[in-house]
Amino acid sequence: MSYQALYRKYRPSTLADVMGQDIVTKILKNAVQNNKVCHAYMFSGPRGIGKTTIAKLLAKAVNCLDPHDGDACEKCENCISINSGFNSDIIEIDAASNNGVDEIREIKSKINLVPNQLKYKVYIIDEVHMLSIGAFNALLKTLEEPPEHIIFILATTDLHKVPSTIVSRCQCFEFHRIQNKDIVKRLEFICQKENITVDKKVLEKIAQLSDGGLRDAIGMLDKLNAYSNSNISLEDFEKVNGIVSYDEQKQFLNDVYHKNIINVLQFLDDIYDKGKDLIIFTQNLIELCKEMCVTYYVEKKCDYPIQFLLDFSSNVSNLVRNTSFSFNTKTLLEIMILSFINSHSTDSTENIDESTKILTSTDKKLEKKTEKESTSINKDDKIISQEINSEKNLTLDDSKFIIENKQIVNNCFARADKNEKKVFESKWNQLNDYALDSEYGATACYISDGKICAVGTGEIIISFDYESMVNRGIHLINKMEQLLEKIYNKHYDIALLTNDEWKQAREEFISNKNNNIKYEYIPVQKVHAGYIDKKKDVSNNTVTSEAIELFGADMITIN
Ligand SMILES: [Zn+2]
Repeated sequence: MSYQALYRKYRPSTLADVMGQDIVTKILKNAVQNNKVCHAYMFSGPRGIGKTTIAKLLAKAVNCLDPHDGDACEKCENCISINSGFNSDIIEIDAASNNGVDEIREIKSKINLVPNQLKYKVYIIDEVHMLSIGAFNALLKTLEEPPEHIIFILATTDLHKVPSTIVSRCQCFEFHRIQNKDIVKRLEFICQKENITVDKKVLEKIAQLSDGGLRDAIGMLDKLNAYSNSNISLEDFEKVNGIVSYDEQKQFLNDVYHKNIINVLQFLDDIYDKGKDLIIFTQNLIELCKEMCVTYYVEKKCDYPIQFLLDFSSNVSNLVRNTSFSFNTKTLLEIMILSFINSHSTDSTENIDESTKILTSTDKKLEKKTEKESTSINKDDKIISQEINSEKNLTLDDSKFIIENKQIVNNCFARADKNEKKVFESKWNQLNDYALDSEYGATACYISDGKICAVGTGEIIISFDYESMVNRGIHLINKMEQLLEKIYNKHYDIALLTNDEWKQAREEFISNKNNNIKYEYIPVQKVHAGYIDKKKDVSNNTVTSEAIELFGADMITIN
């Protein structure tokens, strides 16, 4: 006997055997049982999820001589005849292979003839949306007044392409994708029957790739089985389906994060040359980012900042959504990734990195606001403005951020409060409630990557692992303050530091405390990024006058 494809061999033979379409099969079985079968059905939904299979099973159930619970008995002569596939009263038409005019005309001419053997003559028209206008019109006439012994079962993947005059004459069922766990269960059953050794992980991957289509999933298992001789490994799965391995996907993501452009492009070249499926690769990348985000929220651990994962996956999915992939897929993917890396590395952050370093090294004493030390601060402030002005590429907004940031750190030390910190920490989790918020989502995700270092009565210091993370926050400060105000019902000034800067600041605070040097609170005048027109030139005078506004004229000495 010739080889029978697995999906044919394991096709359900009764409605009760059908997997993942419980509601549809229950309604149909009840209709058969209660003799309330309609004369026209419309089954719609994605391909490979059982529409035609159920149509055939319904055709059998309505004609069974001894139905049980509205399902075929599989023993009577009608069931046996239908199972043979040669019963002339069950007529299948594939509208996709021709326009159907002749077939529908034939239906019309024979519609009044009684069935040869069965109780009902059943017409199953697959991909009905492909019929020509003429065929639709002919079909409409027959649907308007069908004889008692006729049942039409129409199936389509594109319900919106079927004229509403046809749809309205049918009882409609919308079929849903089959859940992955149900597909895995069915595949496990088949593997057991066929003595196929396979890891459950592989079956889960098959289910994922088949996107809710059981027929495709079984077809994939069949192909893998033929390739690997009944012993299927994950490598086989990846090879046969042109999939980039999980480890390689992770390495690729890591290279994108660390901006290893050479590695990124080389890798895309390699997988392209090896004939890997780039569309599946992009889908896998989105899946990988999602997995990592979930781990972040559930287990509170993640290799990358959450914002990076969200931004990257959203860029990749936009690419998938907005392109038909008809143009060179690889080029599109390369351009998207390069542009992503570019947008994640510039926005003037490199320049700020440099100037932050200058400021950090020259301005360590800014936080020590004792009267005795005010002279030294004056000197330092002068240095700050000179340094800022010598750095041509530094924008006014950024320089203001740096000055203000330091002042908030000072104020936070001046008004640090243990109880305030406790209250603050107890509500920190509420950030998660805003993770999907359209206005504050990105801000909530960003800020929850940081650590609470110190809390004053009206200020907070948050630290981050990387300098790039701090830099990104400069333009989110206003949003962050608004968000914290929503959660805590009060205003907090926010200072952003790297973990190392925080460590240094804390050591300084402790040493000052030991030396009885006190911190004094100085009101911060709001000069956040975004408040000022970015086109303004950074001139000596402007920065000095801003510094005067910030610290008061008596604290600034001008040459
Ligand atoms: Zn039967």
